[in-house]
Amino acid sequence: MAAHAGGLTAVRVSSLERRFAAQPVLDGLDLELGAGEFVALLGQSGSGKSTLLRALAGLDHDVTGSGEITTPERVSVAFQDSRLLPWLRVLDNVVLGLAGARRAGAEALAEVGLAGRERAWPGELSGGEQQRVALARSLVAEPELLLADEPFGALDALTRIRMHGLLRELYQRHRPTVLLVTHDVDEAVELADRVLVLEAGRIAVDVRIDLPGSRSLRDPGFHEYRDLL
Ligand code: ADP
Ligand code: MG
Repeated sequence: MAAHAGGLTAVRVSSLERRFAAQPVLDGLDLELGAGEFVALLGQSGSGKSTLLRALAGLDHDVTGSGEITTPERVSVAFQDSRLLPWLRVLDNVVLGLAGARRAGAEALAEVGLAGRERAWPGELSGGEQQRVALARSLVAEPELLLADEPFGALDALTRIRMHGLLRELYQRHRPTVLLVTHDVDEAVELADRVLVLEAGRIAVDVRIDLPGSRSLRDPGFHEYRDLL
């Protein structure tokens, strides 16, 4: 597996195991993410991407393995289903647990295109809008590690492109380590600097996307990556 290029290590996982009813989902998985890396995690449906993210978020107490899971302290998770609290208004969801963050929360809502919806209830928003609230929340938290589980899944194509730009911009601003789960290869190479593929319980492919200025699989230079992925 290709190690990250120098620098500090933000995430380290060794020999991670997770079984469901004796069926191994994560099967001796090793992973290292460098501080400030933007990494995309691909894998077929059911390959264990969400299971890995839950483990990294410290939400799964049934993982085993010879090594430890090390992550930074400030971890933010944007779940596949946005997991907003239905009894809290949109802005309260964004700033939940974050002291003195109401202004930043309102700004983040504006950045994801939801200005004026601060006092709406989650149930009044579409699925895509709820995902944008969840993204705003993880941005306000200014995490050292952002774990995002298919955060653009429920978005229409146009909003998805806007959110890509926004996520990339916020990444440049705060430089968190990002692990973005997606099933979309184009999205992975467009956004990330390193692409992983989870297969048979391990990281089967680990490639660095290193084509300055080029972020499309349609560019000829991407052939080598297409073949690897
Ligand atoms: P992905 O996110 O890559 O689509 P998941 O991590 O959600 O995959 O699931 C990986 C496998 O583990 C699937 O076969 C799924 O059915 C199984 N699985 C996940 N969570 C549970 C659970 N809580 N109980 C039983 N099986 C589970
Ligand atoms: Mg999943």
